[in-house]
Amino acid sequence: MHPFMSVSAMTGRKTGRRLIRKTVAMACSAAILLPFAVGPANAQRSLPLIRDAETEALMKDYAKPIFKAAGISNSAPEIILVNDKSFNAFVPDSRRMFINIGVIMEAETPGEVIGVIAHESGHIAGRHLVRLRSAVANAQIMTVLGTLLGVGAAAAGAAAGSGQAASGGAAAAMGAGSAGQRSLLAYQRGEEAAADRAALKYLEATGQSPRGLLKTFERMSQQQMFARQYADPYAQSHPMAQDRYNSLLHDAEQSKYFDKPEDYVLQYRHDLVRAKLFAYTSHPSATLRAYPRSDKSPAAQYARAIAAMKSRGKGAVKEIDALIRTQPNNPYYYELKGQALLEGGDPKAAIAPFRKALSIKPQEPQFMVWLGYALVGANNPAHLPEAERVLKQAIHRDENSGVAYSQLAIAHGRQGERAEADLATAKGLMVSGDFQAAKRYAARAQQSLKHGSPAWLQADDIVAYKPPNLPNR
Ligand SMILES: [Zn+2]
Repeated sequence: MHPFMSVSAMTGRKTGRRLIRKTVAMACSAAILLPFAVGPANAQRSLPLIRDAETEALMKDYAKPIFKAAGISNSAPEIILVNDKSFNAFVPDSRRMFINIGVIMEAETPGEVIGVIAHESGHIAGRHLVRLRSAVANAQIMTVLGTLLGVGAAAAGAAAGSGQAASGGAAAAMGAGSAGQRSLLAYQRGEEAAADRAALKYLEATGQSPRGLLKTFERMSQQQMFARQYADPYAQSHPMAQDRYNSLLHDAEQSKYFDKPEDYVLQYRHDLVRAKLFAYTSHPSATLRAYPRSDKSPAAQYARAIAAMKSRGKGAVKEIDALIRTQPNNPYYYELKGQALLEGGDPKAAIAPFRKALSIKPQEPQFMVWLGYALVGANNPAHLPEAERVLKQAIHRDENSGVAYSQLAIAHGRQGERAEADLATAKGLMVSGDFQAAKRYAARAQQSLKHGSPAWLQADDIVAYKPPNLPNR
């Protein structure tokens, strides 16, 4: 599990062992709990986004048939995970669907998450306009989210060495600002009913039961009846009148798939992901209470292994090895093993499990980042060219990984490539929204890069970048 972007301004020039240890700790142990922060000067940009390859893959598999049924799969929205345990999901525009990990943690079945995705897809397909509501804090979060994601696109443009792409990113950042203002979101009641009907249609078209959707809305209508002040954000943005629920219930019961059981394999993966999210976001003792040793299910074993890793127990690797024996082709178990070793201060030993994860799922950029991380951390010059290669591959597939940039900077720095190190640091800082520092590194890189070369042009895009003016700041 990675923080969504880079943690802070790490330079590629400090290449001491101590720094590596420090960065390992930041990227791994703090991973999911650490809201993305880029330093005191940018405190308002603290973002609770997280990356986790396993959870993202599951969400994609939930969403794919729904997006297709909704007719939005050609420009399918990107699903972005928010590290927040409350139940909420939102679509600031047609490009992005934010899902709180609370949605997954509260859902006992895949169908409950799929129901939410189907409802939100109904808003996208219906081109419903989000309207102003009175959740100011949420709007600020949205503005910052939108801006940073837009900036990610700008950094990607700069990374691609194309001025045009970079300005496209800037435009996206501007658009995101206004999306933030719109994000005190609510839809008209008629649109909610339309999204409900659309959701039912998509579930029917994909041969899935609407029970999960019903369960989510039933929970929300109860919350609204009894404890308005404690209601989930999703419940607040989805006022559930009794008549709307009744009509949803009536229509859902017509489905010929109503009693169709959950897909066994999806349920298995769902249970693992829920256990993982719980273990990452809870104190190890709470995890052991929720998943006691008497529970021999793979999900419980998974949760306990993560708890052991978090409490830096010596037994973590042993528990993960036991888990691997139950499912020797699960790449995420090897990812966890690598993480436990890396975090335990043994990056060299972490290389093999990350390689194994990547051999099972060769296209996964987050595994590439981990492998690059371990290769850099192993402190062996022979590993550096490979580290550079996999980190560049990771960035090529996923330009929002600040961790990849900071590790790439270290790899360049160790090979005496100071200008390349500065450029990588500058790009990582762009992704994390620290433009001033990014410009300094980019300007310094330019001094030693060949004027007009692709790398020089990339640095120039960063130097010339103009951050958008943000409201509320
Ligand atoms: Zn809605």
